[in-house]
Amino acid sequence: MKEFDVIASFFAPLAEGYDGALGLCDDAALFTLDGATALVVTKDAISEGVHFLGTEDAGLIAKKLLRTNLSDLAAMGAKPAFYLLAMMLPEVTQTDWIEAFSKGLAEDQRLVGVTLTGGDTIATKGPFSASLTAMGTVPHGKALLRRDAKKGDRIYVSGTLGDSALGLALLQERLGVEVAFADRLWLKERYLLPQPRLALGQALVGVAHGCMDISDGLVQDLGHICNASGVGAVIHRKLLPLSDAARHVVEADDAWWRAPLSGGDDYELLFTVPQAAHKQVEAIAAALSLPLTAIGEIISGAGVTVHDEHGMNVTPEVKGYNHSV
Ligand code: ADP
Ligand code: MG
Repeated sequence: MKEFDVIASFFAPLAEGYDGALGLCDDAALFTLDGATALVVTKDAISEGVHFLGTEDAGLIAKKLLRTNLSDLAAMGAKPAFYLLAMMLPEVTQTDWIEAFSKGLAEDQRLVGVTLTGGDTIATKGPFSASLTAMGTVPHGKALLRRDAKKGDRIYVSGTLGDSALGLALLQERLGVEVAFADRLWLKERYLLPQPRLALGQALVGVAHGCMDISDGLVQDLGHICNASGVGAVIHRKLLPLSDAARHVVEADDAWWRAPLSGGDDYELLFTVPQAAHKQVEAIAAALSLPLTAIGEIISGAGVTVHDEHGMNVTPEVKGYNHSV
């Protein structure tokens, strides 16, 4: 079974009757604290061999785990507050490794202003895995949800797309394209160390309609916004923001076009904006020195269609990442 079918079949029924669960269809859940503030709660897990290679520095693995969770808080427009950490440590784990892991977290805590407040530590006979629960706050009723995209909205993404998938291909030595040193560094770093768009998420509160972070591939994730909102979407391939490094790879081998469309681990924000708010998006991009690129529009109907520069349908067959279980 696929991950999303498992959630829909077995776990979504357990969330029925509680609006803040958002049907288990959003980046995080909401819990209203006092009528003015909502607590935003999200959880992401990682496992060696699936979410990281195992050869990375332990500090980098820790940062990636924390940052993927922070990215989900960003997607809701939330300000991070604290987190809980559960670690499943192989019995052979060295103390040095755990120390490096904790140092990675300490560095990011200082950067973002979050604190560890609890968790669990167990020994396992399997490979290392860990799960983190992050919590943040957003003004009550203002969280950015996947279900709020409207026909006529313009679709935006932050930063650049596809770098991370290309960085992973590089690390796994399956890129098949010569890459300059500076490009190699950029692509690998984008895979190893995502940048959760926290300031952007908070700035988009009251501005954006639908919003989520792209973790499993643009086309698949935009499909989640469409499903949740009961709309369709058209995106234009030539508008997708590519870094210089990604552009060089795509120019060398056209097949790598699938990286910005369906490659995982981008951790950029994908959001829709009504016509009246375009100027505000430009102002936010300038204030944050972060590219925000319009890539398409929300239409009536269902599903995501990708057009090339001639208006041809180039929607990829593989739309993104979906774990099989
Ligand atoms: P994201 O990529 O934003 O972290 P996922 O694709 O991992 O989101 O999950 C989609 C939704 O399903 C989220 O709302 C998540 O909380 C929920 N979900 C995933 N696994 C489970 C589970 N085992 N039990 C309950 N909810 C789950
Ligand atoms: Mg998410």
